[in-house]
Amino acid sequence: MDPCQAALSIVKELREAGFQAYLVGGCVRDRLLGKEPEDYDVCTDARPDQVEALFPRTIATGIRHGTVTVIAAGHPVEVTTFRVEGAYRDGRRPDHVRFVGRVEEDLARRDFTINAMAQDPEGAIIDPFGGRRDLERRVIRTVGAAEDRFREDALRMVRAVRLAAQLEFSLHPETEAAIRRMAPDLARLSVERVTQELEKVWKARRPSRAVASLFRLGMMKHLPPFHRWDLPSFPRPPALDALDGAASRRMRWALLLHLCGQKPEEAAGRLKELRLPRRDAEEIGRLYRSAAAWPSSLAEEEGKRRIFRDGIGFCREALELSRRMGVIDEAARLRQVEALNRWNGEMPIRRWEELAVNGKDLIDAAGRPAGPWVGRTLRILADAVILGRLPNNHQLLIKEGVRIGRDATADP
Ligand code: ATP
Ligand code: MG
Repeated sequence: MDPCQAALSIVKELREAGFQAYLVGGCVRDRLLGKEPEDYDVCTDARPDQVEALFPRTIATGIRHGTVTVIAAGHPVEVTTFRVEGAYRDGRRPDHVRFVGRVEEDLARRDFTINAMAQDPEGAIIDPFGGRRDLERRVIRTVGAAEDRFREDALRMVRAVRLAAQLEFSLHPETEAAIRRMAPDLARLSVERVTQELEKVWKARRPSRAVASLFRLGMMKHLPPFHRWDLPSFPRPPALDALDGAASRRMRWALLLHLCGQKPEEAAGRLKELRLPRRDAEEIGRLYRSAAAWPSSLAEEEGKRRIFRDGIGFCREALELSRRMGVIDEAARLRQVEALNRWNGEMPIRRWEELAVNGKDLIDAAGRPAGPWVGRTLRILADAVILGRLPNNHQLLIKEGVRIGRDATADP
């Protein structure tokens, strides 16, 4: 059973139990566009406890807000009771929700016309706000008065820009004008919600559209955590379209920092402000630093050392990022990718674990206590093996290592 059939089976089961139930939101939109939905949402007049009673496998995702996750054939589907919402005073969750009886009332609390449609299992669409028309015209338009809807929840401004990039739609002129006026309200948002939207932007084919809008509509300088940074009023060169095409997610984060005038040394800290996981932030920071300082030509020894230290995948990604940042040109990138691939193929070892000796071998063979000499010796041996000056042979490396270790400790 695919995720769509799983969601439809939930709708049917709710209906057989006498409730109203529909597919709703992004999945209806994506199906009408002929795109595979990211996830499926169901709305119903059944209360959360009634949903829990009906299905054997449920997770209480947000009971207070009416959401229960139902697992059907292994697929999680969010089932939400028809509701209307109060304001999002903390910028995170509505202060209160009220359950209601009609699907049209539930659709009215949703953000954009294209997200405010429901579909029954026979395929009939409930579309009180002209969502289908806006899909055809490829516009993002709020349900109701844009300023009011953005005052209720400022994240909708970011979602508008995100959806426009994701779907390659434009903003309705009234929606766009309201964003320009309401942008200062963005300051109340939690960083987590902003970052979640940016992660979705990175999945678009052309994220530059969203980032351009964030600057052009005056959003960036109010958006947490960017509003605390020393930002340029327009993105720094290179052109925004460096974000597009085949750039990886990690390159896109690094490029965003670059466009925002943030230096490579600051990157990991900035990404932590954005609440990226620590390791992720540090990896992206390392990638950005490496790309910013990438040389326009690379000698064989240096190239092989980089492959051993960072891995071939990291080197290729840093090279590509470096070209996108305008540090090296495409001809230099192509030359270097070719050379790196060749060297990678020639290298007898590519990782520490492949070196035929380890520290313990050396300590045992030398009959001396552990100390800084061990790491130093291993580095010298690995370097010689990588560059083809010594074979990766256990006996030979031990003999060589003991000799190097003795010489190294003889040094003052
Ligand atoms: P995606 O394709 O990224 O999943 P989506 O439209 O499904 O896009 P979700 O964040 O999954 O986005 O939200 C599901 C639905 O909930 C939306 O389609 C919309 O109807 C409604 N919704 C989500 N966030 C808001 C919000 N901040 N204000 C009003 N309605 C919202
Ligand atoms: Mg969704």
